[in-house]
This record gives sequence, structure tokens and C-alpha cells, in this order.
Amino acid sequence: MIVEKAKVKVKCDASGCNNPCDYVIVNKKFIFDGNIYLCANCANELYHELGKFMIPKAVKPIFKKRGKDE
Ligand SMILES: [Zn+2]
Repeated sequence: MIVEKAKVKVKCDASGCNNPCDYVIVNKKFIFDGNIYLCANCANELYHELGKFMIPKAVKPIFKKRGKDE
């Protein structure tokens, strides 16, 4: 799944939203065929909602864990 800047001008896919899309989620993994178009507002909202459940992984841990194996 990849997210890109939308190159086509279609409406945001979120129900009740009539903004033009800014981003497109291109997915080939889902059952349904097609892209998901989101405006900046809805994409931002989705990002924040997902952030409640998942934290982006840091490339390198900031603090070294002091475990048994050290
Ligand atoms: Zn929207």
C-alpha cells in the first residue's frame, strides 16, 4: 500500500466530505479494486486516529534498552 499526492481531480472518498482529494492510497492488497482518495483534512484526521493505536517505529532506538543480554 502506498500513499501519493493525487494527480487526478476527484472528490474525497470520506462520506459526507465534498472536498477535492489531495492524496490517494493505492492498494493492491485489499479485496476491493481501486484507490482511496482523501482530502488533506480527512487524511490528517485518519492519521491522528491511527496514531491512537500505533506509534511509528523509530529507525534507531533513542534509548538503549538495558536487558538481560547486555
Ligand atoms: Zn475529505
